[in-house]
Amino acid sequence: MRIEAFYRPKTIDDALALLDQISNAKIIAGGTDIVIAINERKINPPALVDITGIGELRRIWEERDILHIGAAVTFSELQSSELVRRYCPSLCEAASEMGAVQIRNIATIGGNVVNAAAAADGVPPMLSMNASAVVRSVGSVRCVPLAEIITGINQNSLATNEMISEFQIQDLPNTIKVFEKIGRRKALAISRINLAVCAEMSGQMVKTIVVVVGAVGKTAYRVKEVEEHLYNKELSESVIITAADIMDETVARNLAGRSTTPYKRKIAWAVLKRSLERIAGGQGNE
Ligand SMILES: Cc1cc2nc3c(=O)[nH]c(=O)nc-3n(C[C@H](O)[C@H](O)[C@H](O)COP(=O)(O)OP(=O)(O)OC[C@H]3O[C@@H](n4cnc5c(N)ncnc54)[C@H](O)[C@@H]3O)c2cc1C
Repeated sequence: MRIEAFYRPKTIDDALALLDQISNAKIIAGGTDIVIAINERKINPPALVDITGIGELRRIWEERDILHIGAAVTFSELQSSELVRRYCPSLCEAASEMGAVQIRNIATIGGNVVNAAAAADGVPPMLSMNASAVVRSVGSVRCVPLAEIITGINQNSLATNEMISEFQIQDLPNTIKVFEKIGRRKALAISRINLAVCAEMSGQMVKTIVVVVGAVGKTAYRVKEVEEHLYNKELSESVIITAADIMDETVARNLAGRSTTPYKRKIAWAVLKRSLERIAGGQGNE
């Protein structure tokens, strides 16, 4: 089968109607993942619905201490947004380290989440802040925790007629948010590992902390063992090293038997240590 039709609706309602009417039609945003999937014949949709002409999906705004990011906002727009920097600076960091500028200019945050690559750089910062996605279909709107959208490698919980219109991130004042990544090559790098931490500190003492790691399992996940070790502790050198050791053990367990495991263990240890040192040194973006 070949693609029979390409639509460029101007409103969310028109896009949803198309997704509803044409069985298995696919959304295309920046196209940086889906075009490859089509070319490699992994998917063969009868129609594509380009959502980049829908103004509402391209906005970033705040309302009652909640940051709203339209699903078709690009990584370049995330990188340069003052609002995103204020609410979720780790997402700005992730955006600035994602791909090359040509990719960042067209790749969208919605596409990044829905494509659900294990190494997706937009995911750990948003998971670390407990973000939600607004999921729409004809006559229905639901707000879903991001953690429930991504279900496996390149797998998500959306129905074929559903679309994410925006992500919502609650303001978490007095927290430090950092992102770290080790990629294959600078500028064109898909992450070998990425990590986001969101920590509430009282001086050097950790009050609350969320640690999310990506590219070391099927999906990005919270590393609860590390979080539990860090609660109510001063971020001393020895506490940080023990946290990194726990991270190493977790990755070893989750990736047991893979050829990349020894390398992933080392870089997981290093990115966690670096993140916690930044937080201890007050170098995160508050
Ligand atoms: C050279 C290169 C380098 C890259 N580097 C990185 C990198 O460093 N880090 C990284 O994380 N990724 C990287 N990527 C992957 C890719 O660019 C990202 O995943 C990107 O964010 C995908 O967004 P898109 O708008 O291009 O999605 P598309 O390809 O348009 O869509 C991807 C999937 O999402 C669906 N979709 C899109 N928007 C919505 C929506 N609003 N609601 C429901 N479904 C939707 C589509 O139907 C499709 O299934 C790279 C890709 C390339 C080609």
